[in-house]
Amino acid sequence: MNDAAATKHLSELGAIVGAAHVVTDQQMLASRLVEPRGLYRGRALALIRPGSTEEISRLLAYCNAARLPVVPQGGNTGLVGGQIPDESGEEIILSLHRMNKVREVDPLSNVMTVEAGATLAAAQAAAEQADRLFPLSLASEGSCTIGGNLATNAGGVGVIAYGGARDLALGLEVVLANGEVMSGLSKLRKDNTGYDLKDLFIGSEGTLGVIAAASLRLFPRPRARATAFAGVPDPAAALKLLALARDVVGNVVTSFELLPRVGLDFVLRHAPGSRDPLSSPQPWYVLIELASQRRERLDEALSELLETAMAEAIVVDAAIAATLEQRRAFWRLREDMSDAQRPEGGSIKHDVSVPVGATADFIAEASAAVLGFMPEARVVAFGHLGDGNIHFNVSQPVGADKAAFLAGWREMNAVVHAVVKRYGGSISAEHGIGQLKRDLLRETKDKAALGAMRSIKAALDPNGVLNPGKVL
Ligand code: FAD
Ligand code: ZN
Repeated sequence: MNDAAATKHLSELGAIVGAAHVVTDQQMLASRLVEPRGLYRGRALALIRPGSTEEISRLLAYCNAARLPVVPQGGNTGLVGGQIPDESGEEIILSLHRMNKVREVDPLSNVMTVEAGATLAAAQAAAEQADRLFPLSLASEGSCTIGGNLATNAGGVGVIAYGGARDLALGLEVVLANGEVMSGLSKLRKDNTGYDLKDLFIGSEGTLGVIAAASLRLFPRPRARATAFAGVPDPAAALKLLALARDVVGNVVTSFELLPRVGLDFVLRHAPGSRDPLSSPQPWYVLIELASQRRERLDEALSELLETAMAEAIVVDAAIAATLEQRRAFWRLREDMSDAQRPEGGSIKHDVSVPVGATADFIAEASAAVLGFMPEARVVAFGHLGDGNIHFNVSQPVGADKAAFLAGWREMNAVVHAVVKRYGGSISAEHGIGQLKRDLLRETKDKAALGAMRSIKAALDPNGVLNPGKVL
């Protein structure tokens, strides 16, 4: 693109959103051009901040006609590079930040309508003010946005009870590539009028349309909660604990997270103020949380569960949070697990899922395969056991060269994904495809499904202006 074309585009875009909302200052742009792990860096013609759905509509109509590529961006917390422009400097970043209003909370219908740029934490707070729960919960909730959550179909630590972003969305307002607005902010629980279009946009990572607002499901707020940190001999025992929990306490398990000792060691070493809740080290841990909408003594139910589990040698030792502060401390051990891997050197990540009942076998086989490939590697397999979603991360051997280790990223992926495939699993359970897993998608996705995805992309974005080079 020559300078004259760039100047023309910037002035046309300024006429739509206001010149103050066309950001070209490289210093102001810097933090928007790199993703959280530093894996992807790009350049951009400008960052544009529309303030309304109508402005997004006019903006996309212009970009579509001008063949100007658009990269939607919310909180820039995505982990697969989907929100980062390429290196050409000719793409624009469409930031949803000014679109952050909670349009309505309707407690009687248990629905709230939120603009895409509202942070997840702000949406949770708006629900709480109306004495309701919006149950999506991620460690990045202070900065990730509702639009980003839906565009990536985010999961998190409450999926076992409430489902992920897709399950929580009733309707969407989407701006299509040509600028048309698809107004689908439904509050309906039942609606069978043809294709479910909203589900196309959820998880489409900004490649099919720009989500401007969403109507989201709300739940009664929990009146009782109990949290425990339990030491177990292995992931198979953790699975037995999950089954036992459903027998003993029923339908109130709202989180069931697995942590390995090596991961806890990393956290204790690197997260200031962290401490082991148990008196002696255990090979694996489960962070289990129960919540109920009725006022009941869940700590008693939890302690009955843990006693039974100990009698059956499923659990070796456990601590129940006695205070809110203790509960937070347990959760911090889980939430710090990703960050604590960084000071340990390079880490090769796999965000995979297998059927819940196969998680223990998967972890055992994949760990053996990794150690066969690299005997000194440190497997840190943790995460949402109750959903069959394991963050199967591999930290470099102690003292190894980080760059040399990371150079083997694809080979390590192949070792782990071969086991995922044997179990009928997914190579991306939570974080999506973006740039990071685009090649992998091509290699692993069913051919007919991939063809259907390409047809849908071509139908909805024939000029290929929406987030080119991502997903497909
Ligand atoms: P961005 O990072 O800005 O964008 C992500 C993708 O969505 C991009 O492809 C972008 O183009 C697209 N997009 C953004 N907004 C829109 C829009 N309005 N319309 C269309 N497309 C759009 N993810 C999980 O699923 N579960 C977790 O538990 C979890 N924990 C995390 C913890 C940390 C510490 C971090 C850094 C990330 C975590 N993530 C997790 C990943 C990330 O937070 C989620 O993917 C989140 O949903 C992204 O939201 P965002 O607003 O930051 O989107
Ligand atoms: Zn996760």
